[in-house]
Amino acid sequence: MTNLRTASRTHGFTESVIREMTRVAASTGALNLAQGFPDFPAPDLLKEAACKAIRDDVNQYAVTWGAASLREELARFYQTWYGMPVDPKLHVTVTCGATEAMAAILLALADPGDEVVVPEPFYENYGPDATLAGARPVFLPLTPPDFHLDPQRLEAVLTPRTRFLILNTPNNPTGRVLTREEAEGVARVARERDLIVVTDEIYEHIIYDGEHLALATLDGMAERTIVVSGLSKTFSVTGWRVGTIVAPEGLTRAIRKVHDFLTVGAPAPLQEACAVGLRELGAPYFRSLATEYRERREVLVKGLQDAGFRCQAPQGAYYVMADFSPLSRVGEDDTAFAHRLSREGGVTPVPGSSFFRPGSDVGKTLARFAFCKRVETLHDAAARLREFADSSA
Ligand code: GLN
Repeated sequence: MTNLRTASRTHGFTESVIREMTRVAASTGALNLAQGFPDFPAPDLLKEAACKAIRDDVNQYAVTWGAASLREELARFYQTWYGMPVDPKLHVTVTCGATEAMAAILLALADPGDEVVVPEPFYENYGPDATLAGARPVFLPLTPPDFHLDPQRLEAVLTPRTRFLILNTPNNPTGRVLTREEAEGVARVARERDLIVVTDEIYEHIIYDGEHLALATLDGMAERTIVVSGLSKTFSVTGWRVGTIVAPEGLTRAIRKVHDFLTVGAPAPLQEACAVGLRELGAPYFRSLATEYRERREVLVKGLQDAGFRCQAPQGAYYVMADFSPLSRVGEDDTAFAHRLSREGGVTPVPGSSFFRPGSDVGKTLARFAFCKRVETLHDAAARLREFADSSA
């Protein structure tokens, strides 16, 4: 046993709970409704395009900030879909997933001591990303069940050191979609306090109620908004690791340098395939994606409610946050419940506390279930949940 030192910046991190639960699902043989990855195939056109790119020998590094074809399709997409003027040469960077995008942005733009506001509950990477950049995450608690984002409460957590706000809509894990009124409120605060808003819009096409609003399109926001997204969820290819950033020119220059030193680039043939997907699939595909997810949502929400969980149908993304109190044993917290449900019920969720700051009690009665699964898988999960509820009654 040696005594070699590890970097103190990592000491506060726990392992990813989401990926840990994937291992729990595998070891217990449970249905994995923990990690948000589809169990159904990607569109054929996309798979063919990837095979063709490899056969055509697109096997070496792409341009470090992204294959020209993909950056051009992305610029076209942002223009036609949201009316955003995007120059593929100046504003777009392709990364290894939205995960790298978020890390590269904060490493490129945050200085030690800067504060990054993270609305809570949050996707588990944002806090560690801020910490890796030497910045400090500052959590803004939102109140269940509707998790409304109140601009006054945002203002209350700002200090002279606050430089960034990370906003994820449609939201993982709550499924909330930011309303126009909330977005206007955030934009006003960002302009007044000179904040950079990093919007994680990875679920932009998976939306059931309302409409996805790109914050960058609001007055005065293009110059201070960094849009993170990617093709993982849109094309059901989470393992391809193709993420995207659209940012103002000056910020893009810094982000590209960090991205280059971190990863050089995302997989070249897969970038070509994503460009083909964006060009050929377009609006009808995006619409059918949302329709198919709506059906999956109904099956899981009904399954959870029938088994006794308390939950609401999400407005977007593909997760349900469910209160398991009616099914829990005395003194059982979210982690113990998630493990028992895996072992005894054959369904694995993510413990709710991993979406809240360490020590918070809010997530202790919650579990997150992902429904990016085939309808059959979800019917199977619903039946298992029902049986679990009956046997623990
Ligand atoms: N975004 C997905 C989730 O929340 C996948 C997380 C991951 O493993 N990167 O489950």
